[in-house]
Amino acid sequence: MPTPEGPRLAGVVGWPIGHSLSPALHRFWLERAGLEGVFLPLAVMPGKLENALRGLACAGFSGVNVTVPHKQAALAAVDELDPLAARVGAVNLVTMTRDGHLRGANSDVGGFLASLDSSAPDWRKVGESAILIGAGGAARAVAVALLDAGVRHLVILNRDPGRAASLAAALDDPRIEAAGLGTFPDVAASAGLLVQATPAGMAGQPPLDIDLAAMPAGAVVYDLVYRPRETALLAKARARGLATVDGLGMLAHQAVPAFRAFYGAEARADAATLDVLAGLAS
Ligand code: NAP
Repeated sequence: MPTPEGPRLAGVVGWPIGHSLSPALHRFWLERAGLEGVFLPLAVMPGKLENALRGLACAGFSGVNVTVPHKQAALAAVDELDPLAARVGAVNLVTMTRDGHLRGANSDVGGFLASLDSSAPDWRKVGESAILIGAGGAARAVAVALLDAGVRHLVILNRDPGRAASLAAALDDPRIEAAGLGTFPDVAASAGLLVQATPAGMAGQPPLDIDLAAMPAGAVVYDLVYRPRETALLAKARARGLATVDGLGMLAHQAVPAFRAFYGAEARADAATLDVLAGLAS
């Protein structure tokens, strides 16, 4: 139902923004729920985030998702920060009131875990020791999710080992070990879960060149990349008989709390939703 002020307004801020799948996703859920609501792609230049957020709040927006390159800048632009967003060091969801109050949250952490739980429900049985490849913003959200989910050992591997060490130092957890990507063959045999959180393997990018032969049977391989849905890494894992999870699930699941905050209704990151996203991402 529209509010007395008209349909609820929300959107996604990024620069550029044309590639974002969020507008189509939220519009699919609005239509499926029979709700009247608006979701706009909002191109906001770097350096203009806070002005844009304050203006959107005053214009009656209930909130926005935040994407590249604003996720870190949003930390400083909001009035109130959810503790999880502070820990991850990134905001991907801002809720707002008409008097201009901005609250920053992070739903990438929960989105990653919800997609892992739903696509590979037994991962906890094999994933007590996990390998995470990457040390950028996405890797940081995944690391927090896995630590909070109770993994006993987390090996963070990055092309630049210094960046893996910095991430480990920032998260300050004795369960973390950090090293260069070249050490993958030494640690692969003891990990039940491998998460790939770099752009490697995306359309137009070279694939990640690692050998999965040593990974134990029953291991789960999760690739955050969703364009293409099946990366070369996932194809290799599938050929080895390992369980695979693609990045579309995280994209769908991180949007569920956003939809609730924007429109006051529940959305489901179900098979029909993933089909819609797969069609858009291909
Ligand atoms: P980012 O900050 O640009 O990622 C940088 C990280 O990737 C660094 O650790 C970098 O290593 C590493 N890297 C880049 N190219 C590499 C290559 N060819 N080989 C090995 N390592 C490489 O990006 P991000 O924001 O963290 O996102 C990472 C990926 O996750 C992107 O593909 C993004 O689309 C995806 N993602 C998906 C979702 C989802 O919902 N499914 C959500 C967020 C992100 P160095 O430090 O050595 O440079």
